[in-house]
Amino acid sequence: TSDPDYDVVVVGAGVTGLTVANRLRAAGRSVIVLEARDRVGGRLLTDTLDGVRLEVGGQWVSPDQTSLLALLAELGLETYSRYREGESVYIGLDGVRCTFAGEKFPVSERTANEMDRLTVILDKLAAEMDPLEPWNHPDADRLDRVSFAAWLAEETDDAEARDNIGLYIGPAMLTKPAHSFSALSAVLMAASAGGFSHLVDADFILDRRVVGGLQRVPLALASRLPAGTVRLGEAVTKVEWDADGATVFTGQGGYRGRNVVMAVPPTLVSRVQYVPALPPVQAQMRQHISFGLVIKLHITYATPFWRELGLSGTAFSPYALVHEAYDNTNEDVEGETRGTLVGFVSDVKADGLLALDAASRRERVLESLAAYYGPEALSPVHYYESPWMADEWTVGAFGTSFDIGSLTRYGRHLRSDVGPLAFASSDIAGLGFQHVDGAIRMGEAVAARLLS
Ligand code: FAD
Repeated sequence: TSDPDYDVVVVGAGVTGLTVANRLRAAGRSVIVLEARDRVGGRLLTDTLDGVRLEVGGQWVSPDQTSLLALLAELGLETYSRYREGESVYIGLDGVRCTFAGEKFPVSERTANEMDRLTVILDKLAAEMDPLEPWNHPDADRLDRVSFAAWLAEETDDAEARDNIGLYIGPAMLTKPAHSFSALSAVLMAASAGGFSHLVDADFILDRRVVGGLQRVPLALASRLPAGTVRLGEAVTKVEWDADGATVFTGQGGYRGRNVVMAVPPTLVSRVQYVPALPPVQAQMRQHISFGLVIKLHITYATPFWRELGLSGTAFSPYALVHEAYDNTNEDVEGETRGTLVGFVSDVKADGLLALDAASRRERVLESLAAYYGPEALSPVHYYESPWMADEWTVGAFGTSFDIGSLTRYGRHLRSDVGPLAFASSDIAGLGFQHVDGAIRMGEAVAARLLS
């Protein structure tokens, strides 16, 4: 062992790692941040492609995300509202397209009643859960043994109600099929957002955007650190650790710290070699966590033509390839006359889409949008698919979650330190789980622990 070069070596310059580094620096600790990519921000990337500024990764801020809202205020970043005037579109089980105003889907009275009843049950289950400790929910063992799809089938025989309620947590949030994660994981997703009702309400969960893009948060955090603190293009491949500290190796050399924070998704923790190896429970646990899969689509038109048709741009259908879409026009860009839609293709539908060539993918997506907005949707001026699933420093989207039975079996080890090593990311958050808000909460929690 040798004297540490730094109090703390942080691996990963996403919002989690940069929050840790900022809080430690502010308390006078010496810190270095090692980032594999040639940029900061991780799953946040605001990029201009073909002249259109796009939120390639995360973008929305909701009122429950109080840590993110506080950080935006601290950094002096402003937000604006998503365009939402006009009617939404829904395509039901019968394949019929309907427009509607307000939150309630235009479904049969029976289906609407069943959706309301399931919402009440899920809200109650979420209210009983501390999202930091879902395994302590009074019914945790039972809920973690059953898939969310099977739980929904036990609760209602109304297929359209099941498909809609399943959509909010399956394709739309965990981005996995509802048969592949537990009812307990579903309740965690709801509890982490302050309740299931919040996930159902697009005006709540997709409330605001950041002027200039959400990547301004990690960019601002990085710029507050002393020059040279964040080292880009340094993928960590090995961590040698002992009771006194750890040495972190990249292609450029070794960095010794009294502590190391692995601020990377739980799946990528295992990509690094540890000497000595991590305890068995750590290695086992990480084989039961996986990224979901969703393709975020950005389709720009000469004008936001749907507005002329009296549509808000908001569209949903558990039965369509693009299961949800919204008006994502950059309201903060002066003189912007084009209109952008954002849409999502998730889990098994994404598998199918990714099996096609680029031209066929585009054709299928535009046909799906035309079913919502009419034939004008077939002629965009720009089309882009966010490539997170093919990016080796993420390998999926939006975040990671446990397989059935593993939240109760392993969850309590997610935030345990191993000697001088700590682990943090939005994927192991309670409130703000899988969101930027959770990244900040986890970063602040680790920094506070290291300072105590
Ligand atoms: P990451 O951002 O993944 O950062 C981890 C960093 O570690 C990365 O920079 C990575 O390159 C680096 N790294 C990994 N391995 C190594 C290594 N071995 N050596 C060095 N560096 C390494 N959240 C919201 O709040 N609102 C949204 O609207 C929203 N939408 C989303 C849409 C998409 C398409 C995606 C992908 C995510 C979305 N999210 C959203 C989720 C949000 O982006 C993440 O929860 C959050 O950004 C994660 O931050 P993090 O720092 O924990 O992890």
